[in-house]
Amino acid sequence: MGVARGLERDLRAIVPADAVLAAARFGPYCHDATIQRGLRGQPQAVVCPEQTAQIGALLRYCEQHSLPLVPRGGGTGLAGGASPLAGGVVLCTERLRMVASDPAEPATLVVGAGVRTAEVQRLARERGLLFAPDPGGASISTIGGNVATNAGGPHALGYGRTGAFVCGLEVVLSGGERAWCGEGERRERCGYDLPALLIGSEGTLGVISAVKLRLLPAPQVARTWLALFEACEQAQSALDLLLASGLAPSLLDFFDGPTLLAAAARFPARQLLAPLLDRGRQQHARGALALVVELDGHQASAVNERGQELCGLLEECGPLRLAEISGSAFASWREGLGPLLASLRGGRVNDDLYVPPRRLGEALAGIAAIGEELAVESFAFGHAGEGVVHASFLAAIERADERERAHLAGERALELGLELGGAISGEHGIGAIKVDLYAQRSDPAALRVQRAIKQALDPHGVLNPGKKLRA
Ligand SMILES: Cc1cc2nc3c(=O)[nH]c(=O)nc-3n(C[C@H](O)[C@H](O)[C@H](O)COP(=O)(O)OP(=O)(O)OC[C@H]3O[C@@H](n4cnc5c(N)ncnc54)[C@H](O)[C@@H]3O)c2cc1C
Repeated sequence: MGVARGLERDLRAIVPADAVLAAARFGPYCHDATIQRGLRGQPQAVVCPEQTAQIGALLRYCEQHSLPLVPRGGGTGLAGGASPLAGGVVLCTERLRMVASDPAEPATLVVGAGVRTAEVQRLARERGLLFAPDPGGASISTIGGNVATNAGGPHALGYGRTGAFVCGLEVVLSGGERAWCGEGERRERCGYDLPALLIGSEGTLGVISAVKLRLLPAPQVARTWLALFEACEQAQSALDLLLASGLAPSLLDFFDGPTLLAAAARFPARQLLAPLLDRGRQQHARGALALVVELDGHQASAVNERGQELCGLLEECGPLRLAEISGSAFASWREGLGPLLASLRGGRVNDDLYVPPRRLGEALAGIAAIGEELAVESFAFGHAGEGVVHASFLAAIERADERERAHLAGERALELGLELGGAISGEHGIGAIKVDLYAQRSDPAALRVQRAIKQALDPHGVLNPGKKLRA
């Protein structure tokens, strides 16, 4: 209690008193979205600084007292990155909400790290422009968290991940020093590419306090189609054809049969799923797969022409159903999928992996087989065009045996991804949950370089220890 009081008093000398939360309010800051798999830590303090200088003083304080400092945005991360598993101080960016724009550079925006992703999307839209990254938790996640995880989302296929939109970063480094990296105040992109180093660094190299983003001209037209296939092989052929075509979809997602069945009630075009919902055929749903494809552009005629070509190509592969659907209704259905699956048994181990898109069918068959072997209900959906697979294994969170089997299934799915020439993370990052596997499976020389970078930027080892890379 004495230590906690002393810490609280010291922190109140750095930030306004109300920016140091009382212990009774720590609850939501003990975990991120991996709470679905039972991951939770216990911080010694939770602080919400309002200015960059306060972040610098907090980092210096943690270094002097060897306290872990865990940067946190919206806490929607799916790798345990913002969970204070080693205790310490959670630094939440929720009060860093500055928004600035420069009339001389109308297609850019400078925002504080705590501005929510959906707010950035809205600000871009109001300017007639596009901020394309659309990770599923956008109404809660922050731009700082998006940069720190290099978040993707359905439109990453057409437009790239968050990092592709960053032209500059303000970051607080060891010793509390503020640095600007990238374009902006000083034109410093001639040296080593520091923004590239910080993008995806998961709070382990510095605390991002503000981001300068580039915005794109917004497409005037977007059309979305759903193709439902009875057999995964047909969907794989359609995917291969599509990726080899010049159609350049802006979004190309997939959903396996069990996912479609579980979420059919809320699906915006439920009649398209009728072949799966038919009682007699439900047992065959496991092998079914739906592809959702969006084409966008600036001219309706060009998009319509590409749409015809797309439908011809999908027809060739013999879908059970092929129809245009509402893109916005599909997006909100998709956003609710994770929580819906988690609610089926109370807990969900959700491991994201990357597989080369041409091996998607093999990955899905393998994930289903893992679930069957371990007697765990499994689901898979993701971004087919990018090879991002979200494999979900359900467990009743209070039942240790189920939890263990679901975790084992998740580990096997990651191994499967590696066997297929993929990687252990599609888009969620390494965080705490994959830190050991990452070290085991990385090239030793590359790992040495990464450790040298970590040591140089975090010599006291306080920046989100135990995440991404173990010292
Ligand atoms: C329903 C749902 C759907 C999702 N869909 C997607 C998806 O489609 N694509 C995708 O990529 N992800 C997705 N995610 C995962 C998550 O939304 C992203 O990882 C997001 O970028 C996390 O942002 P956040 O602000 O919540 O970060 P947090 O969870 O708070 O933190 C994530 C990591 O970033 C670090 N961090 C946060 N802020 C900073 C900062 N200012 N400086 C330095 N480090 C920082 C943390 O330490 C942690 O390691 C989804 C999550 C949910 C719950």
